[in-house]
Amino acid sequence: MELLEERIRKDGVVKEGNVLKVDNFLNHQMDIELFREMAQQWKEDFSDCSINKILTIEASGIAIAAIVGAVFGVPVLFAKKSKSLNIDGSVYCAKVESFTHKNVSDVIVSKKYIGPEDHVLIIDDFMANGKAVKGLIEICEMAGATVEGVGIAVEKGFQGGGDALRERGIRVDSLAIVESMDAETGEITFRA
Ligand code: 5GP
Repeated sequence: MELLEERIRKDGVVKEGNVLKVDNFLNHQMDIELFREMAQQWKEDFSDCSINKILTIEASGIAIAAIVGAVFGVPVLFAKKSKSLNIDGSVYCAKVESFTHKNVSDVIVSKKYIGPEDHVLIIDDFMANGKAVKGLIEICEMAGATVEGVGIAVEKGFQGGGDALRERGIRVDSLAIVESMDAETGEITFRA
């Protein structure tokens, strides 16, 4: 998506450790008009699917997913990072290693809000190694829900998570795929 790539070129900051900072429009201050354009793009791209639920993971996916939910006209569910145990079996739980913090946390979704009737579009801000999305797919599988696809704002293609999912036959629709980025020069290139 040209608009998003342009914005990343203009406002993205490449940090050490293969981290791209987009705090100016996505992860801190948020450009809701841009989010709306992104949501419209996914709506077009997934127009052949009957999506009835958006699933994301807290915290940074929630804002984008909220706008996507508004554009699709469907509820938005977010997996919570939880410290409490699933004592009464009322939640689906997956383990997710955080790319930014490197710790593993349990992410949970209540069994009340996802089930076999759901056709889910998973949304997240970034894809690196794909661990967050894999956790969300696992939760959908446990619930018997259908994953129609995955919508990612910024995929870092060189970290392989997106392509590994595509090889599994999962439809991954990333609006910008960063092919390379350099913390010293600040140069960012995109997959054509
Ligand atoms: P993955 O699970 O695919 O390895 O990493 C994806 C998650 O880590 C996303 O939910 C996102 O919050 C965070 N993340 C990964 N790489 C970056 C990055 O370069 N910049 C930012 N802002 N977040 C990232």
